[in-house]
Amino acid sequence: MSPVLEVANLRVDFSGRTAAVRGVSLKVQRGETHCLVGESGCGKSVSALAVMGLLARGAVRDADVLRFQDTDLTRLSERGMARLRGDKMAMIFQEPMTSLNPAYTIGSQMAEVYERHRGAGRRAALDRAAELLGRVGITAPGMRLAQFPHQLSGGLRQRVMIAMALMCDPELLIADEPTTALDVTVQAQILRLLQTLQRELGLSLLLITHDLGIVARMANQVSVMYAGELVESATAEALFAAPTHPYTRGLLACIPIPGTVRRDEPLGSIPGTVPRISPGFAGCGFRDRCTHALPACAQTVALRSAAPGHAYRCVLPAEWT
Ligand code: SF4
Repeated sequence: MSPVLEVANLRVDFSGRTAAVRGVSLKVQRGETHCLVGESGCGKSVSALAVMGLLARGAVRDADVLRFQDTDLTRLSERGMARLRGDKMAMIFQEPMTSLNPAYTIGSQMAEVYERHRGAGRRAALDRAAELLGRVGITAPGMRLAQFPHQLSGGLRQRVMIAMALMCDPELLIADEPTTALDVTVQAQILRLLQTLQRELGLSLLLITHDLGIVARMANQVSVMYAGELVESATAEALFAAPTHPYTRGLLACIPIPGTVRRDEPLGSIPGTVPRISPGFAGCGFRDRCTHALPACAQTVALRSAAPGHAYRCVLPAEWT
């Protein structure tokens, strides 16, 4: 079966000074959750925005393949992209308060999506909005439609964003750190909601997160990004069973695992920060932070296979310890 989203060798440069995304390739299969993981500044959100055609002015996008279902996104006009966005491809963001317009009611913002993409009248659009608010677990949806974003809690606002994204029955939902701004209990509720909706609606989900706990809970497939590149890609099962890239291992070492980490033991950390990569940068982007760096790491490092379906970008052999 062909993937819902196929990306090959995606590159994004900002003003010719920063190479934010460097040759990213991934596929999101129908009905799966594909997690894109990495620290802030690794290029995860920029990759998603590049797929959605929402990059900031000054950004230059290029790709060998950028296909959503049968549509070649590299050839689509801005008008064509606007028709797809919010319809068959939808996106939710980290902080719903900045995504929702504070000057309009929830109902008016949700209805607009349906009116624009489906040509529906206001009454039908509001009925659809109320139906979806109920579906995402919001009580008294009729009343909520008349409220403004500031009258809702953070968790309710994120539910509204999810409902709005579902207005036109999307095939692909891109969720960019959808629970980062929420407290732990609400975070668990939103993740459970996404899992339920995905199962019931057959959604394909590209989930961006820095939290490997969320990955362990949600992912079928995982792509780990660092400094604009994919550094490891595998099924979730394979990645957690045999993480291979030093960065992936470093991320896993930062997670407290009950029963294996003592209370008085400091948690793992990766010293340093993600570097800013200029166009023409060569070698492994992780080498300034990697305790295993070798002279060969200053040369181009290609992806290699650790096992069938499991790739990593490092000069070390897969069985290094
Ligand atoms: S290529 Fe070199 S610097 Fe990069 S992760 Fe592997 S060992 Fe470390």
